[in-house]
Amino acid sequence: MAIRIDRNPHPPAQPAPDSLIFGRHFTPHMFMMNHRDGAWQDPWIVPYGPLALDPAAKVLHYAQEIFEGMKAYRNPRDGSVHMFRPDQNIARFNRSAARVCMPAVDPGLFMEALDTLIALDADWVPEVPSSLYIRPTLFGDQPSLGVASSTSYLFYIIIGPVGSYFKNGIKPLRLKAETEFVRSAPGGTGYAKTGGNYAAALLPIKRAQDEGFDQIIWLDAIGRRTVEEMGAMNIAFVYDDYVLTAPLGDTILAGVTRDSIAHLCHDFSIPWVESPPIVATICDDAASGKLKECFACGTAAVVTPVGSITHLGREAVIGGGQEGPVTRRLREALWEIHTGTSGQHREWIHRVPAR
Ligand code: PLP
Repeated sequence: MAIRIDRNPHPPAQPAPDSLIFGRHFTPHMFMMNHRDGAWQDPWIVPYGPLALDPAAKVLHYAQEIFEGMKAYRNPRDGSVHMFRPDQNIARFNRSAARVCMPAVDPGLFMEALDTLIALDADWVPEVPSSLYIRPTLFGDQPSLGVASSTSYLFYIIIGPVGSYFKNGIKPLRLKAETEFVRSAPGGTGYAKTGGNYAAALLPIKRAQDEGFDQIIWLDAIGRRTVEEMGAMNIAFVYDDYVLTAPLGDTILAGVTRDSIAHLCHDFSIPWVESPPIVATICDDAASGKLKECFACGTAAVVTPVGSITHLGREAVIGGGQEGPVTRRLREALWEIHTGTSGQHREWIHRVPAR
């Protein structure tokens, strides 16, 4: 299907590079495609702007919605623009779509939509350490209040510049292990990037932040005993001779960053162990010094150190509350790959063709 382009006759001014606020600035164009009568139709790039939705649209009532979060960077050496492992986000998008009963988007067309949109607004891709955030979204828009899957869908992609997560320096996080609320449960939607998972997380995160924590650690829904994720990131624990993280399953979002770090650990001959981390043991090991470091990882922050975990009112400081050498090494190695300046894992870089 050919992608039609309607250029924006009134593109907005670009924000100043030092004024970027996450998720607030968008480029002049967006990609849109409707699913009607059982098929995707009319892939289209249009000026960025509001959507017209019927108040009875399924998504507004039953949250039949999924999204992705990925990034493009400008290579500081040659100015070219590339995405980081977009094939992984596309695959996860379609896994999420299947979980909430929505049609898949053809991966080839998805990639072409990304390439075409980013190439059109390539001037908006900022210099590193800033980047271009990419938000593909899919939802059911049939105007009907029946509790059933929608018969029509809208898929769109919006993009916008974002600043570095570490603008104010690297500050290890102070986390609360959440023992009351859960993010996901076996058989639920935890492995899908569906908006409802994030809505359910808002209250516990707000409460923890009101108590002075930066974020929360999600524990398993059955026993509140093992560590699954941190906020909207995966989490890993660095021992002397291995890195420990939760195994993937239906309660955990399979992070692209997590997978990339598993590969880097392999490259660096650091054993990567996937076994449920027991929160009480993690806290004991932090207190005794056996646990050396902890970090969280995800597209927004890449790799961010964790300074302490509070479980049932007891705070366990990890590695003196400072970023440790393994976290730093992984963060720096991954950052060089993200920005296209590393010789490692060139296969993870998808160059956006210039228009
Ligand atoms: N876990 C959750 C719940 C997330 O929302 C995200 C972010 O997308 C991640 C983990 C990290 O995934 P990724 O590395 O693909 O950004």
